[in-house]
Amino acid sequence: MVSCIFCNMQPPIFENDLALAFFDKNPVSKGHVLLVPKRHAKDYFKLTSEEKLALDDLLGLCKGYLDNLYKPDAYNIGANCGLEAGQTVFHCHIHLIPRYAGDMANPTGGVRGVIPEKQNYKD
Ligand code: 5GP
Ligand code: ZN
Repeated sequence: MVSCIFCNMQPPIFENDLALAFFDKNPVSKGHVLLVPKRHAKDYFKLTSEEKLALDDLLGLCKGYLDNLYKPDAYNIGANCGLEAGQTVFHCHIHLIPRYAGDMANPTGGVRGVIPEKQNYKD
C-alpha cells in the first residue's frame, strides 16, 4: 500500500481502541483537531459502526479538552469525502474546528461555506 501519513500519526492527543485524534498541521483556527480511525479507510462511508462510535467518543473528549484549553465560542464538525468534496488525504478524518467570535465577518451558514457563495441563505 502507498504510505499514508494518517496511518502513523504520533503523538495523539486522545486515542481509544479504534481511533485517535491529533492537531491539524495547518489549523483553520486555534485548536483545529483531526480525528481518524486507526484502520486505513478512505472516507467516512467506509467505516464500521464501531469505528464511528469510537470517533464520536473522541469528538466528545476533544471538545471538552479544547473548551478547557482555548475556550472557543462554537465548533464546526466536518468530513470531506472524495476529491470533488475537497478531500486531500485519503485516510478518513473528521475535522473538529473551534470557532471564535469575530473570526470571520459573517459566519452564518457555517459548513454550507463548502460552496462559498451558497454559505448564507438568510440574507
Ligand atoms: P482534507 O482536505 O483531506 O479534508 O484535510 C486534510 C487535512 O490534513 C488538512 O487540514 C491538512 O492541514 C492536514 N494535514 C496534512 N498533512 C498533515 C500532517 O502531516 N500532519 C497533520 N497533523 N495534519 C496534516
Ligand atoms: Zn492511512
